[in-house]
Amino acid sequence: MTTIGIPKGLFYFEHHLLWENFFYNLGCNVEVSDDTNKEILDCGVKYCSNETCLPVKVFHGHVYSLKNKADYIFIPRYTSIDKNEYTCPKFCGLPDMTLLNLKRQVKVLEVKINVDAKPEETFKSLREIGKTLKIRYLDVVEAFKAALKIYDSSRRNTGIFENLLSSGIDKTAISLLGHPYMIYDSYLNMKLIDKLRARNITVFTPRDIDHDTKRKKAYPFEGKIFWDIGFELLGSAFTFASSPAIKGMIYLTPFACGVDAFVLEFIERRLKEQYNMPLLKLTVDEHTGEAGFDTRLEAFLDMIG
Ligand code: SF4
Repeated sequence: MTTIGIPKGLFYFEHHLLWENFFYNLGCNVEVSDDTNKEILDCGVKYCSNETCLPVKVFHGHVYSLKNKADYIFIPRYTSIDKNEYTCPKFCGLPDMTLLNLKRQVKVLEVKINVDAKPEETFKSLREIGKTLKIRYLDVVEAFKAALKIYDSSRRNTGIFENLLSSGIDKTAISLLGHPYMIYDSYLNMKLIDKLRARNITVFTPRDIDHDTKRKKAYPFEGKIFWDIGFELLGSAFTFASSPAIKGMIYLTPFACGVDAFVLEFIERRLKEQYNMPLLKLTVDEHTGEAGFDTRLEAFLDMIG
């Protein structure tokens, strides 16, 4: 049976249900890499240039860790996952970049996702997967549609924040903003969510807000073409900032993220001008020490009370 390796980085945190089920439906074994650890991080750092953002470095480490455990490593090529929304350029070139940096030590399978401009590309790449795995094209399409259905139903649980607001929040609540592969990777974020919960703090993230609300609140890009993650972060920031229940905001950003350099500037400026919302910006790279990170966090939590 063919084994497909799925790296636990980048797209994994939002789309793992889709891709794991897709390959299960095709009758493949699925091998997911371990949670991020020092060995994975060091390996990614070794294969990438210094200027590469931290999550992409870590992703390389995950791919390498699957080298002898899988026949193919799955790396989707995301260009756009919604109308008028585009991914960061690193996602568009991820299969090529990883293959070249790792000097072709792994075999890569990709699916192209370009919903805004060329949705037909997905089906062309599904045909290629069928050829590689020797599975009929129609069966590959069926497997994809069935996996998409499971993924779509898993996403209906958003809007938690709005629901909780109407019923009241009784503990200190803060919002945590950042890319899913930062705020849900407990090695990269140094167990930030656990640390906050240990202080009896309720933590809200962009996942807790409904998709359309985030698009409507993504000032000044509402209704325009923009990065998908930009909509997520701007929309979440201004939804949380409008709520008196939220006492402060933490923005966790990886070193060398071009998108954050732009989006964070808009958030910082508007929070200062229009909202009375304390903001803690935490930048993380492969050299960040936990002691300094914790000190800044403690000082911020003491300030918001
Ligand atoms: S959005 Fe930022 S962190 Fe994510 S891949 Fe692009 S540059 Fe890296």
